[in-house]
Amino acid sequence: MLKRPLTKPTKLILLGFLDIRMDLPWENKQYFLNLKKGYEGEVLFNSLTEKLSCECYILNGLRFEFNNTTFQIDSMIAVQQTLYMNEVKNFVGDYYYKDGRFYSMNGDERKDPLVQMERSSSQLRQLLRSLGFTIKVEPYVVHVNPEFTLYQAPLGTPIIFPTQVHRYINNLNMITSKLNRNHEKLADKLISLHVEEDPYAKLPPYTYKGLKKGTTCAVCDSFAISVHGKHCVCGDCGHVESVESAVLRSVWELKMLFPNLKITTNIVYDWCRIVDNRKRISRILGKHFKIVGERRWIYYE
Ligand SMILES: [Zn+2]
Repeated sequence: MLKRPLTKPTKLILLGFLDIRMDLPWENKQYFLNLKKGYEGEVLFNSLTEKLSCECYILNGLRFEFNNTTFQIDSMIAVQQTLYMNEVKNFVGDYYYKDGRFYSMNGDERKDPLVQMERSSSQLRQLLRSLGFTIKVEPYVVHVNPEFTLYQAPLGTPIIFPTQVHRYINNLNMITSKLNRNHEKLADKLISLHVEEDPYAKLPPYTYKGLKKGTTCAVCDSFAISVHGKHCVCGDCGHVESVESAVLRSVWELKMLFPNLKITTNIVYDWCRIVDNRKRISRILGKHFKIVGERRWIYYE
């Protein structure tokens, strides 16, 4: 049973908005691409775990603050006796272990997922003990990308390779498991302890003025949108969306990027650039938001 579904991290959503509206500085671009790749790996793994039919609780994307440190766990699957903790990786290319260190093929030492897994599983065990739960924690690094190869991994290390992921899931499915009230308490407690990361903390500086304006396609992010009556059509992928939904999506994007900005007809008109009629914008805003103020000073909440 899916107790906590996977959700797209807000900072990834924000970086995605910024990426199409400005030139991200190199480091932010790399960070964004890594985050995106990691999330795609989690989506893939989630598509497999959500089909588990054994009696279990699935908890995705939890982040804890404990013992003055922060640790994040991509996926947890609780069965009767064991809590499977999965550190999901979407690496592409060739890597190797040498003298206990993790390298990419060009010889650059990389952050070892096993070290990361050890650290978070140790934190998780301590957290569970402090809460009075005795369930056994079994951690794995799960590589989901079929383009990933790892050489010289010591035999018996808790790594699930792309060719083993299906078997891993099948084996979980074969576990005879009966969950009780205590398992539910454990799952609910862990969910309640989740601490959201400040999504604005790692963003590059940006201003309203500095961002490219215009409504983008909901499917392919293209700016090539044209309005035909009540609908807008993407010139690149052909996706059709109602003007109303496109405007609302743009307002949501604007509110996410600038949480303190007052939403007015003029701002939305300037931001969307697809509707050439301010009255049409006011109508859409008036239908979906609360109108605050009067006449020239109207804004929407
Ligand atoms: Zn499109």
